Amino acid sequence: MSEAGVIAGLLEELTKLPGIGPKSAERIAHFLLAGDRRHAVELANALQAVADKVRPCSECFNLTDGTLCPICGDPKRDAGVLCVVETPRDVNSFERAGNFRGLYHVLGGRLAPLDGMGPDRLTFSALVSRVNRGGVREVILATSPTLEGDGTALFASTALAPTGVSITRLARGLPSGSSLELANAQMLAEALDGRRTF
Ligand SMILES: [Zn+2]
Repeated sequence: MSEAGVIAGLLEELTKLPGIGPKSAERIAHFLLAGDRRHAVELANALQAVADKVRPCSECFNLTDGTLCPICGDPKRDAGVLCVVETPRDVNSFERAGNFRGLYHVLGGRLAPLDGMGPDRLTFSALVSRVNRGGVREVILATSPTLEGDGTALFASTALAPTGVSITRLARGLPSGSSLELANAQMLAEALDGRRTF
């Protein structure tokens, strides 16, 4: 490939990233290609490492480079309370909120039948098996305050009903129609403290 070809290839990959338009892509490419190119090599190595090593936690499906994520592997966490979230980013949001000491379960998205996101593409059955293994007192459904998030929570609660576990939902008050990502740490902490029976 010619030099113009490889640069065009880099720009094309960069513009696929969320929030990166053509101008930002060009700025990043020039930054990476300037000087001794140390940043380009370090970035390439970091990307290779995450692509090779990061996978879902065998217990909660959070992203990790081990078999168990650091949260599942922490004996000080309360394994009796599971907070069910859509994505690993939501785990980070709750961890920043700082008032949750239980474990998580990452669904891998939310139900969106029109986009082909059916229940079999999410980790509902692993969640039910986890609860059936015993030791879980409460499952907090912390899906996003959107129609799809509510539908996902309803599906989860129906799937969990036969287990007899106590099921709660985050308090309202989060910006409705948006992802949990947009809620700040204090709002999330309050929504968690104010949770109610589903
Ligand atoms: Zn985990």
